Amino acid sequence: MGLSIFSLAGKTAIVTGASRGIGKACALALADAGADITITSRKLPDLTGTVREIEAKGCKALHVATDVLKEADVERMVKNTVDHFGKVDILVNNAGVAQLGPVEKLTAEEWDRVIDTNLKGTFLCCKAAIPHMKKQQYGRIINMASLGGIRGFKNMACYNASKGGILRFSESLALELINDGITVNCICPGYIATSMNEAFFKTEKGKMELSKYPMKRAGRVQELAGAIIYLASEASSYVTATSIIVDGAQRWKGAI
Ligand code: NDP
Repeated sequence: MGLSIFSLAGKTAIVTGASRGIGKACALALADAGADITITSRKLPDLTGTVREIEAKGCKALHVATDVLKEADVERMVKNTVDHFGKVDILVNNAGVAQLGPVEKLTAEEWDRVIDTNLKGTFLCCKAAIPHMKKQQYGRIINMASLGGIRGFKNMACYNASKGGILRFSESLALELINDGITVNCICPGYIATSMNEAFFKTEKGKMELSKYPMKRAGRVQELAGAIIYLASEASSYVTATSIIVDGAQRWKGAI
């Protein structure tokens, strides 16, 4: 068996939240493996640079402005993909937001924004893509959870609840689709350096946090490429209802 089990040539992927950070890196990794890709986020101009980078790798790219909070947007994102590429094989639900702070200071609006973007957004995108994957009896759904979905962290209750929800949602959905040729898995990154946390890691508290990690640093977005290609490809055909932790052993902070 050769490395062709990792090839995504001829496959079509959708990546949400692909304007920057982890989503952009995932889209570029899928293009490196040969996939054509629809990239989405709320602002179309933020996606044009990534379109050019995907095309420079010899793959086709479509960009669609999509707010994952809006069901009509999500349905349009999937419809445009199927109209343009003829199918959708891979869905990466990456769009997400974070909100830090103690529960007693968290507003109901902040709670809704995080839970709705991270959890309901993932649900809406899956709901829209599944009929197309079922029709072809093939699909790969990859949901971006977090180390914070596996265990709780202080002052991250809302975010952790959304990511824990994604893990349980994904397991359930994987079982629902197990006989349709569709796998559903999560990636649980530890801290990865992106705009979501760059301000924190510039603070003394942030630097102190990094010093406690076994690798003494946050992850780099490119370090998720292996996990995303694996879960999107034939290489993971017998892998579903599970998750891959990519955290440089951050969960063992303080242990060495
Ligand atoms: P960024 O803030 O850098 O990027 C978030 C992306 O999500 C952007 O493209 C943003 O685009 C998009 N987005 C946000 N809200 C919406 C929405 N309502 N509809 C559509 N797109 C939206 O975050 P990261 O790259 O750091 O994080 C990406 C994912 O990885 C998130 O789910 C996050 O929870 C998860 N993660 C991140 C970790 C980290 O340490 N960075 C660790 C563990 C998990 P725009 O605002 O233009 O719409």
